[in-house]
Amino acid sequence: MDFNDTPQEADYRAQVKAWIAANAGEYLNPPAKPWALDDFVARSKAWQAKKHAAGYVGITWPKAVGGQGLSPMHQIIFNQEESRTHVPTGLYSIGLGMCIPTVFTHGSPEVAARYVPRALKGEEVWCQLFSEPVAGSDLASIRTRAVRDGDEWVINGQKVWTSFAHKSDFGIVVCRTDFDAPKHKGLTMFIVDMHAPGMEVRGIKQMSGGSDFNEVFFTDVRVKDTHRLGDVGEGWKVALTTLMHERLAVGGKPRHAPGYQTLMTVAAGIETDSGPAMERADVRQRIADTYIADEGIKLTQMRALSALSRGAMPGPEQSISKVVVAKTMQDMASFALDLSEASGFAVEPGSDLEKLQGSYMWSAGLRIAGGTDEILRNIIAERVLGLPGDLRPDKDTPFSQLKPL
Ligand SMILES: Cc1cc2nc3c(=O)[nH]c(=O)nc-3n(C[C@H](O)[C@H](O)[C@H](O)COP(=O)(O)OP(=O)(O)OC[C@H]3O[C@@H](n4cnc5c(N)ncnc54)[C@H](O)[C@@H]3O)c2cc1C
Repeated sequence: MDFNDTPQEADYRAQVKAWIAANAGEYLNPPAKPWALDDFVARSKAWQAKKHAAGYVGITWPKAVGGQGLSPMHQIIFNQEESRTHVPTGLYSIGLGMCIPTVFTHGSPEVAARYVPRALKGEEVWCQLFSEPVAGSDLASIRTRAVRDGDEWVINGQKVWTSFAHKSDFGIVVCRTDFDAPKHKGLTMFIVDMHAPGMEVRGIKQMSGGSDFNEVFFTDVRVKDTHRLGDVGEGWKVALTTLMHERLAVGGKPRHAPGYQTLMTVAAGIETDSGPAMERADVRQRIADTYIADEGIKLTQMRALSALSRGAMPGPEQSISKVVVAKTMQDMASFALDLSEASGFAVEPGSDLEKLQGSYMWSAGLRIAGGTDEILRNIIAERVLGLPGDLRPDKDTPFSQLKPL
């Protein structure tokens, strides 16, 4: 492994650093208080437009679709430098990270020309309409139905956990178009207008107080056949393009997430019944465990970066990072809040404990989004370690003959 930038990478990093220093302004420091949702959306749009004007969007995408045609290392360098700031970025991670690559890979050139440039400028926000109440890990079990009617399709059904659906203009939706084919074979993907008649978005309230994701109901929603992505019945293949990008997008430690240093700072200020927390063997052991996990994650990511820098693509071993990151965040935050007793509930705004409380609530979702711990462990077992595969007895049965849950 070589941890250093190549001379070309170092040049690009210097250019990015200089641009960020000149443009990030107030985002070089943390915000005084969390932004309200509409403020976050407005700030995200403004920052995306700035990046677009400077050529820092679609860094790895082909020039033909408005990208920069650079390597994944360029993207990573930009992300690393951007993540040192507090600029708002999450609004586009699903759209630009997963939906739009699916649109330009599987949509017609006309469709790509209509949607990709506006998404890159940040003018239009996208969401991913895959999960349903009975289809998450087993995505191929979705039931939202699309029926052809001349040049259009009529969609009926329900999606759930759709991040930012309430702030999105468009989405990619996977539907069942053939109930008599085996579950992976009867699916088709479409682009859908989130403001079309028959679309209803209902927010889901989270324990953190936020409302980032939604239920989405489709009642006779009409989509033109020109807005189909890929062939009829090929939706699974198209969805794999999205999921491949999802696995690359979710994985590393979230920006500014607390680590072992935060646990040390918190522990240093706590006096327990059995003496100063820092002198307790169990506390010191937890700090050491967190340090080991944090370092392991860093080195696993360095291994992936080293592969990218040599022009190779990181493989299924990328799943290791996400399994360890999410569980470590949750375990560490839970331990720190327990240690803080009642003050773990009544936290000071802006304090380390507040960060840990946020991390505790957010990490539960992180262990599910983009593949649950168990699913990622299956991937590691089957595709990294070569262990026998999970049982998939319903793979070849027509969907209409599968017993509903
Ligand atoms: C923060 C967040 C954001 C999300 N955003 C989106 C979004 O924008 N768009 C979207 O479409 N979806 C989104 N999701 C949904 C997410 O993709 C699903 O929640 C996830 O795939 C799990 O599906 P599920 O919730 O139906 O759980 P299930 O699949 O029902 O799993 C329930 C439990 O069973 C376990 N399990 C399931 N199958 C197996 C197996 N074969 N072996 C062992 N254990 C198994 C799981 O690990 C889990 O513990 C989001 C979820 C979260 C938490």
